[in-house]
Amino acid sequence: MSRKYYFKCTDCGAEFHDTDFMYLCPFCAAKNQPGQPPKGVLKTLYDFDELKNQLQKETSFLNTQQWLPLLPIEKTESFGPLAAGNTPLIPVTELNGEKLPFNLSLKDDSRNPTFSFKDRASVLVSAYAKEHDIDTIIAASTGNAGSSLAGICASQKQKAIICVPAAAPKAKLTQILMYGAQIVPVAGTYDDAFDLSVALTEKTGIYNRNTAYNPFTIEGKKTVSFELFSQYGNKAPDKVFVPVGDGVIISGVYKGFEDLLKLGLIDRMPVIVAVQAEGSNNIVRNLHSESFTSLPSKTIADSISVDIPRNFFMARKFLKKYQGEAIEVSDAEILNASKTLSSNTGVFAEPAAATAFAGMLKQMNENKISLHEQVCVLLTGSGLKDVNAVQTVINIPEAVNPQTFLEDFRY
Ligand SMILES: [Zn+2]
Repeated sequence: MSRKYYFKCTDCGAEFHDTDFMYLCPFCAAKNQPGQPPKGVLKTLYDFDELKNQLQKETSFLNTQQWLPLLPIEKTESFGPLAAGNTPLIPVTELNGEKLPFNLSLKDDSRNPTFSFKDRASVLVSAYAKEHDIDTIIAASTGNAGSSLAGICASQKQKAIICVPAAAPKAKLTQILMYGAQIVPVAGTYDDAFDLSVALTEKTGIYNRNTAYNPFTIEGKKTVSFELFSQYGNKAPDKVFVPVGDGVIISGVYKGFEDLLKLGLIDRMPVIVAVQAEGSNNIVRNLHSESFTSLPSKTIADSISVDIPRNFFMARKFLKKYQGEAIEVSDAEILNASKTLSSNTGVFAEPAAATAFAGMLKQMNENKISLHEQVCVLLTGSGLKDVNAVQTVINIPEAVNPQTFLEDFRY
């Protein structure tokens, strides 16, 4: 079967039609500097005119084929037994007893097989590996991408090697090891772990899942936008709040909606709001600057704690092209949002995911959300992945004497 996709460099625009797979654009990658976000991240593109023609003949063919014509995969069976995606969209009508004047919904991606959004990318990369007889995949991760790849590989009988910063939360390291992956704790940051995994790929040719390095991670992540399109009744919501660290999830969300725009299935891009933690705001801070300057990151939201956002240039391009917004919230706001979210909706999200909810609360309090607007908050990971982070907003009561407690109990 002939290849249905090709690659295009986000930065120099070079197109690559004669290869099944490549990482960064070689022209841009050759000029990349240490301490700077990489240039040359590739977009995967399809024959949109041909797909448009097919849509005219059969309007639902993308849905019935599970969007396969817009993915670099040939068969749905390649996705394996763990179904990623198809997560619920949960309506929220009131918060703290007050009715909301707009239509809020939570896209709960903590319900993926390994409890995070990252499964969307892992499943796609794993499926591609399966179709090309690749049995081992390596990745660098702060925890979620690693535990995701480890879990998906376990289900697909593939080997996973995960380079992690040694300080990643214990729950995430535990999860990686329980799935049977090889773990390589790196003395250093996520960026050091990333560089080691790329060096291993360059040295041995081992297939690499790193975000904003392997272009198919963006293709996996974009599937959330296709689902939102279906869940909103074949249209896009007005506004989507997305937690942002590396800039890959937000690029995936944009890419999915951009594919839909190119096909004429939607007529406008939703307003995407990039929400970063104040202590890891390298995209917000550099959005309008000529050169990129990195500040060391420090936030309780470890999944979006990033010194050098790997997909900075693509994320910035999308935000500027489609008039997206970029805001930041403090760790205190993230913790409060996490508690508000859990106690009002029953969805316990990890701090990085609660960051998106905190951004929504901030805009709501500043009256930046219009009446009746369709607003979606993307929740990217489960709170059980990092229970230590929220200890300061709860009080575990002292043990009681059952007899005394029973006698005095009133409610
Ligand atoms: Zn390039």
